[in-house]
Amino acid sequence: MPIAPSPTAQTPAPRLLLVDDDALLRSMAERTLQHAGFDVLGTDSGEQALALLQQGHFDLVLLDVVMGGMDGFETCRHLRQLPQAAQLPVLMLTGLADTASIEQAYQAGATDFITKPIHWALLAHRVRYALRASAARAELARSRERLERAQQLAHMGSWEITATGGMACSDELARLYGAPTEAAQCSTALAFLARVVEADRPRVARARTAALRDGVPYELSFEIERFDGQRRTVLEQGAPVRDAGGSTVLLEGISQDVTERIEAERQVRQLALYDGLTGLPNRQFFLELCNTTIDRARRAGVVCAFLHLDIDQFKTINDALGRSGGDAVLRAVAQRLQAGTRRSDMTALTTPADAAPVAEVVARIGANGFTLMLYDIADHANAGSAAQRLLREVQRPVMVAGNEVVLTASMGVSVFPRDGSSAAELAAHAEQALYAAKKDGRSQHRFFDEGLNVVARARLVRETELRHAIDEGQLRLHFQPKFNASGMDIDPGNHGDARHGQVTGVEALVRWLHPRHGMVSPGEFIPLAEDCGLIGPLTDWVLEAACAALVRWRADGLPLTTVSVNVASPLFMDDGLPDRLDALVRRHGLPPQSLMLEVTETILMADTEAAIQRLNELRTRGFKLSLDDFGTGFSSLSYVKRFPLDELKIDRAFVRDVQRGGKDVALVASIITLARLLELQVVAEGVETAEQAAILLELGCSLHQGFLYARPMPAEALTQMLGGTAVAV
Ligand code: C2E
Ligand code: CA
Ligand code: CA
Repeated sequence: MPIAPSPTAQTPAPRLLLVDDDALLRSMAERTLQHAGFDVLGTDSGEQALALLQQGHFDLVLLDVVMGGMDGFETCRHLRQLPQAAQLPVLMLTGLADTASIEQAYQAGATDFITKPIHWALLAHRVRYALRASAARAELARSRERLERAQQLAHMGSWEITATGGMACSDELARLYGAPTEAAQCSTALAFLARVVEADRPRVARARTAALRDGVPYELSFEIERFDGQRRTVLEQGAPVRDAGGSTVLLEGISQDVTERIEAERQVRQLALYDGLTGLPNRQFFLELCNTTIDRARRAGVVCAFLHLDIDQFKTINDALGRSGGDAVLRAVAQRLQAGTRRSDMTALTTPADAAPVAEVVARIGANGFTLMLYDIADHANAGSAAQRLLREVQRPVMVAGNEVVLTASMGVSVFPRDGSSAAELAAHAEQALYAAKKDGRSQHRFFDEGLNVVARARLVRETELRHAIDEGQLRLHFQPKFNASGMDIDPGNHGDARHGQVTGVEALVRWLHPRHGMVSPGEFIPLAEDCGLIGPLTDWVLEAACAALVRWRADGLPLTTVSVNVASPLFMDDGLPDRLDALVRRHGLPPQSLMLEVTETILMADTEAAIQRLNELRTRGFKLSLDDFGTGFSSLSYVKRFPLDELKIDRAFVRDVQRGGKDVALVASIITLARLLELQVVAEGVETAEQAAILLELGCSLHQGFLYARPMPAEALTQMLGGTAVAV
């Protein structure tokens, strides 16, 4: 029974070329195959066959081996040279059923062979099978091509690494690594590993080794420096291939260039978390960052502040300057706020370690609003100073397209933990306070808590007054002498007759002659000056006045060689201080040795090494250094050895207690011993009674300062006391 060829109207019958010089066999075969539904063309020579192949399309060739003229082997070899026949299935018809001829047939490029005599019933089956196999091969080749194209589109390359370190890779992998294709063909795993940047290389090597040795698949992304020098980010997946026995023989993987994807992800993140105009975090990200900081503040037990700033009448600015002008103003304000916060380094916030510095965050919230979080402000009142400081910053003129624009802003302040426990709550309360500030007439700040507003208002008044005090000459300088009490007649009724003692120096102590409150003591306004940034100008004034006084005393022939000035810790660490001091003494024509700087142990608290360096620097320049209020700070006695000093001042509290004897005397005694060992002069502060003076003398401390000898007094009073003519300061 003939075999149904199942050709349809759409698919034409497969076209076969039958080459055989045996006419009988040819006609038998033709008939059989035609009957089976094939379209058959017969020819009797190899030469003819080659000509026909060049003219028309065929799906398969049946080729006799033994022919006159060109034989089957040779025809096959020639046929394979033709582009249209290179992949064509060729079935050799051979009576030579020996392995040598079959081998020869394959070598000539035959696909398969059919032995003679031909089994007619099977012929069509063999042909159809050969056609199907060839179609499958073609499909495989096409799909491999498609895969390659897809890999190319996805920037994805595939590779294999053998257990011995050999590497085979796809063209796309070579392209991905920027390697010349030839190089890729004969490359080794090591050559490709060397392209992984140094920081990532050990990680990649470990993963590959583990995959080969233990059969663990992996997925890694890392950076490479391509063979052409470009840097890219690659995502690599590797999986072990096992043999039948289960042992890993190969590592197979794909690598993908994900550089663009990562950049896109970064951009998406930037868009989602940051404000496009100012580059500041947006509300959502701000709250996230703040919650982390608040957790830390809670653990550390510190006070934080939320400040919500809003530019007053921004709409008017926008109308006047246009949209782009308004944007420029917002950018300028953002910059000033960032510069005005302590540590505007965002990355630190993501570091969970409590040791990392805490960043203060500025964010843009709403059209013309900004929110800031200040960490560890120590005291509620400081939030008010910070608010004022930032408002002043924002109110400095902004240049927009050649125009000077003056803005004002209002601010609402809430304080953690007093006004809320979460960032959202604190931000909401700061915003609420902002409305109060706006309602009260703008250009000011308001606390969320009314109680704080009352305190803040009083403080603000003080701050403004102090600012004026410096400018308007309300500061006065008093001087308290230090005495060498040895050999002095210390009679309790006498209050220390100065003329019998030797004055070895004077300490300058500032006072504020307030127009309404009279003489205000420094204990009240020095801390305020430190908080609101006035300590610098204040100290400059004191230094000037102290040097001027010393110059006059020396001109009057009084035996005074040094004046001591108190320098607040933040100012002492100010980088400009040494040069300013140099200029100061030079201006007054004084040697640097005539200025003694009194500092407290708090300078050592933030950064001991930096403080020691500063002490050394000043000492090298010739200034004298005194450690004030000694014993009240944290530093142990032995710690003091590391500080280059000239003088130690034993704090008043110890001097007061020295009369009680016991432990208190022992402590003072050890301070004195230490000072002597370190060759420092030691001064007892606040000596009020003859008994204290006597005990101190007995312990070996002869330099005394205190009411027993003299109270702080104006310069002219001191001149009189020392027997010179009066000078006015
Ligand atoms: P201090 O540096 O420890 O200054 C000594 C203080 O003790 C002075 O108070 C002085 O009047 C007081 N005193 C002196 N002898 C006795 C005594 O026998 N008994 C008692 N009870 N007190 C005595 P004053 O002038 O009120 O200064 C207080 C603090 O203010 C100073 O403490 C110093 O820390 C600071 N201060 C004063 N002037 C300046 C200055 O120009 N700059 C800076 N940064 N701080 C200053
Ligand atoms: Ca002092
Ligand atoms: Ca002191």
